[in-house]
Amino acid sequence: MNKTYLLTPGPTPVPPEVLLAMAEPIIHHRSPAFRAIFRECREGLKRLFQTEQEVLIFVASGTGAMEAAVANIIAPGDRALVIEAGKFGERWTELCQAYGAAVERILPGWGHMCPAADVAAKLKADPGIRAVFCQANETSTGVCAPLKELGEVCRNSGALLVVDAVSALGAMDIPTDRWGIDILVSGSQKALMLPPGLAFASVSPKAWKVVEQLNRPSYYFSLTKTLKAAQKDQGPYTSAVTLMYGLRAVLRMMADDGLETIFARHRKLSAATKAAVLALGLTLYAKDNPSDCLTAVEAPANIDAQDIVAKLRDGHGITIAGGQAQLKGKIFRISHMGYISGSDILLTVAALEQVLRDLGHSVQLGQGVAAAQAVLSQP
Ligand code: PLP
Repeated sequence: MNKTYLLTPGPTPVPPEVLLAMAEPIIHHRSPAFRAIFRECREGLKRLFQTEQEVLIFVASGTGAMEAAVANIIAPGDRALVIEAGKFGERWTELCQAYGAAVERILPGWGHMCPAADVAAKLKADPGIRAVFCQANETSTGVCAPLKELGEVCRNSGALLVVDAVSALGAMDIPTDRWGIDILVSGSQKALMLPPGLAFASVSPKAWKVVEQLNRPSYYFSLTKTLKAAQKDQGPYTSAVTLMYGLRAVLRMMADDGLETIFARHRKLSAATKAAVLALGLTLYAKDNPSDCLTAVEAPANIDAQDIVAKLRDGHGITIAGGQAQLKGKIFRISHMGYISGSDILLTVAALEQVLRDLGHSVQLGQGVAAAQAVLSQP
């Protein structure tokens, strides 16, 4: 038998009812039947994004929506401010540079986050900055940005606030309109519990003004083209019909649960996981604003984190993630976003205890599990 569990911070497991929804025969992407699905997804996405604005859908991975944001609001020579707190912050820098921006970076250090006041100071020093880019949840480190405060800072400036919520949307409460987020991008394969392949972006009236004024020569990722098609309940090109079946199913499930319940579940799973690893004598990697999407953990000094990942996978059928770039071998990451339950966490912690013991770390078996259980059994 080969039973497996997926606790990586993307892709994440897809619920069986969503897999079944995606087994429907393909229909044409311009048909009335498909437009009805598209319309329902438009409405559901607005609720999920907590916005009155259109949420644009791209057939792409999350990076596609990041590129769409940059391609439509950055002209060569524009100044962009990036909070670069990890691997995905670097992606904003690389994208902005690819589109000719002069990028100023705030480097809080991996595992850390800067206060919104640092961004306010940069915007004061250079009021011409076109946009501020950040990650709601920096998946490489498990650290969150102070989105609400950043929204307040950017609202009173000429700069747009562009947020990568690829791994945060659907796990963390992000009231897009209320917090003044100008462009919020996300992807399908994380807290949205879908396979990879869809990307999303909401665009505020302030951002639309910039898009219209700049009129950048973007084609596949043109926000304007995508909006025009969406208003007719379709994509500009061939839609990913199968994934849209899944999206409709997921949005219905999430509406049934309610956003508050979903966020509370993520908070609890996160607290349980963090309590467990601390009880095992391990250290959390996130020093500021630890995320409820995943738990990043420092491997004990004499153990390669990749060995922990490999032993969990090969010995227990549990896939978690290692560290990226300079964190490879140093940390491991357990995801609790999307279709993950308390039982999944208990199982993972129990297996982790065994793996750590096998690798020579002194562990009292059951200690992590007990700490997680204590959190999970709270009302
Ligand atoms: N941004 C964040 C915060 C992510 O976690 C990821 C994926 O891991 C991405 C961007 C990139 O998304 P994709 O791999 O879907 O292009």
